[in-house]
Amino acid sequence: MVSFQTIQATLARIEQAAQRSGRTGDEIRLIAVSKQKPLADIINAYEAGVRHFGENRSEELEKKAQALSHLSDLKWHFIGHLQSRQSKTVAQYAHYFHALDRLKIAQSLSAKLVEQQRTLPVFIQVNVSGEESKSGFACQNWQQDTSQLEALIEVIKAVHQLPQLDLLGLMTMAPFDANEQSLRSIFKKIAALSRCLHVRLPEINASQLSMGMSGDFEIAIEEGATHVRIGSAIFGARAT
Ligand SMILES: *Cc1c(COP(=O)(O)O)cnc(C)c1O
Repeated sequence: MVSFQTIQATLARIEQAAQRSGRTGDEIRLIAVSKQKPLADIINAYEAGVRHFGENRSEELEKKAQALSHLSDLKWHFIGHLQSRQSKTVAQYAHYFHALDRLKIAQSLSAKLVEQQRTLPVFIQVNVSGEESKSGFACQNWQQDTSQLEALIEVIKAVHQLPQLDLLGLMTMAPFDANEQSLRSIFKKIAALSRCLHVRLPEINASQLSMGMSGDFEIAIEEGATHVRIGSAIFGARAT
């Protein structure tokens, strides 16, 4: 059961963090991460006004999107690592894709989107912590190691060439165990990278930032997040 109060409280925390960054809450998009949660929870959140939901498994996205297809303004964000063979499902049901972590997946999504006659707004996932377990293009040393920056620029140009993909910006996941200070420096590093990319590629307008989860979304917003992906703070803990 998802309470209206929990959602209101989350929106209030987003609003306050946005104000601390000189913005308002409606400049930040809340994505309620409903992975592993039942349809009833999604419907509750929808009735409380949430319209954007995040899923990370293609079979689960397909089932939920089919079951809730009558809610025509509900938007699905695919936030998980994607295998090429699952591209078709994401191309068919997702309204946004946050985890573009290799060019191959951009190409296979693009091919499926042509068949579906759809375009898909996407975020390129970057790995800012250098943790091997995290997906995404390496960028933990982008200010010192120009090869990381140049590689990312080539990826962005290649994605920009694919008309079915509409590049919105960068997505990242901070380490779960980081303290506030290191979280802040990670989010700052991504925001600075995003500004640098904008200077280097002024014709490509992709300066949105998908960063911040239940444990760190206020810090992420203070440092410039435009999209936050919040699961357990809204739906409660997940079974692991
Ligand atoms: C599960 C997940 C989230 C939400 O995590 P919470 O800590 O429950 O808010 C956000 N982003 C991604 C990519 C996820 O897989």
